[in-house]
Amino acid sequence: MNADVIVIGAGIAGCSTALHLAEAGISTIVLEKGEISSEASGVNMGGLGGVGWGHSPSLQEYLTMGSLNIFKRLQNELGYDIEFRQSGSFTAIHTEAQHAYAKERVLEAQNNGFNLELMSAYESRALEPELNLDMLGYVYSRSRGQADPLKTTRAFGQAAIQAGATIETDTEVMAVKKSNGTWMVETSRGVYESDAVVVAAGAWCKLLGKMVGVEIPIEPVVGQMWSTEPLPPRIFGTIGSFESSFHWSEDLYAGAGSPPELTHLGTQRLTRHLYGRQRKSGEIIFGGDRRDVGFDKTIEDAGIDVNKGHATEILPLLADLPIATTWSGLMPFSIDGHPIIGELPYNENLFVVTGLASSGFGRGPGAGMLIADFVARGAAHPALTESDPARFAD
Ligand SMILES: Cc1cc2nc3c(=O)[nH]c(=O)nc-3n(C[C@H](O)[C@H](O)[C@H](O)COP(=O)(O)OP(=O)(O)OC[C@H]3O[C@@H](n4cnc5c(N)ncnc54)[C@H](O)[C@@H]3O)c2cc1C
Repeated sequence: MNADVIVIGAGIAGCSTALHLAEAGISTIVLEKGEISSEASGVNMGGLGGVGWGHSPSLQEYLTMGSLNIFKRLQNELGYDIEFRQSGSFTAIHTEAQHAYAKERVLEAQNNGFNLELMSAYESRALEPELNLDMLGYVYSRSRGQADPLKTTRAFGQAAIQAGATIETDTEVMAVKKSNGTWMVETSRGVYESDAVVVAAGAWCKLLGKMVGVEIPIEPVVGQMWSTEPLPPRIFGTIGSFESSFHWSEDLYAGAGSPPELTHLGTQRLTRHLYGRQRKSGEIIFGGDRRDVGFDKTIEDAGIDVNKGHATEILPLLADLPIATTWSGLMPFSIDGHPIIGELPYNENLFVVTGLASSGFGRGPGAGMLIADFVARGAAHPALTESDPARFAD
C-alpha cells in the first residue's frame, strides 16, 4: 500500500501528526504494532502543562501552549468528549529550602511573562479545599489543565481518519529501507511505500533508528501509577510536589549515561516526584516515579507506597482511601532531556517526533503539528532548531 507519508506509531504524537498531515491534504498511513493509544499515551496521568506564551516563546511554549489550543479545538470545535478542563495546578512546597527556590523560580517566570504564582497554603485551600494547610505554600498555575488520555488519543486517531488518514493497527514495523528515493516499510502485515516517513514510536524510537543505521538516543523510562475507587468530586486541579524540581535543580543526572530528571539510580531512590488528579469518573490517581530499567514495566510496590505517602502529605483525605489499581507505562526520555523533533541527518524525508519524556501527553499534539508542518512545507518552523536530531550526529 502506498501513501505520501507513513507515520510509525499511533500514540498521541503519531496521531496528531497524522491529523495535521491529513488536514493539509497529504495522504497518510499510520502503522501501529498494538492499538491506537495502547502504550504511554493511553496510560498517563492526563496532566497538561503550559504557563503562558511568555515574552519570547521557545519550543517549550509552542509545545505546551500550542497543544492546549489543539486540545481545546478537539473538544470544542471538532466535538470529541476528551474530558478536557483548564483546571489549574498546585505544586506543594514541603521545606524552607524548597520555598526559597520556588520563590526565585516564580519571580523569574513572572519577569519572563509566565503566569505562575506563589500562594500560601491558606490561599490555595480556597481554590482546592482538600490541600493540606501544613504545607509551606503552593505554586499555582491557572493555565495548566487535564484530559482523559485514552479518550484524547483515540479522538486524535478518529479525527485523523475523519480527515482522510488510514490507521493500520496490529501492524509492527520490522524494517525501514530506501530504494530509488522511495521509503519501503516492511511490517508484520506486508510492505508499505511512501515518499516520507515520520517515526513517532515513543520509547521504541531507538530500535526504529537502528533499522536505518541512525542513532535516536531515546531510553525507555518506566512510570507507574495507582488509583482509588471512584468517589464524589473532591480534587479539582492537578496536584504535584516541588520536592523533585528542587532535587533536580542541584542534581540533574542520576548517573552517567542516563537521561536527566529520574527518581532512581538503579534500585536506589534519589527523590520523590509526584503528579495526580481526580478523574471525571471519580478515581483519584497519582504517580511520579521514573526508573531507567529498560522495557521492564513490572510495578515496583515499594515505589507505589512511597508515592501514596507523598500524595497523602499534600491531600490528607487519601490516608483513608485504599489503593484499588496500579498500572505502568514507558516514557520516551532523550539522553539530553530535550525533545527530538525534525529530519534525521543523512536521511532525506525521514523524520522523527519523540523525546517528550514525562510530559508528552500535554506536548504531543503540538509536536505532531510542528512535524506535520515540516513535512508538508519542506521547511522547519524556527522553534524546531532546539529539537533538531542533528545535534546528536558525529
Ligand atoms: C505513568 C505515566 C504518567 C504520565 N503522565 C503524564 C502526564 O500527566 N502528562 C503528560 O503530558 N505526559 C505524561 N506522561 C508521558 C506521556 O504519556 C508520553 O510522553 C507520551 O504519551 C508519549 O507519546 P508518544 O506518542 O511519543 O509515545 P507512545 O504513546 O508510546 O506511542 C508510541 C507508539 O508507537 C508504537 N510502536 C513502537 N514501535 C513500533 C513498531 N516497530 N511498529 C509499529 N508501532 C510501533 C507503540 O506501540 C506505541 O503505540 C506519562 C507517562 C506515563 C508512563
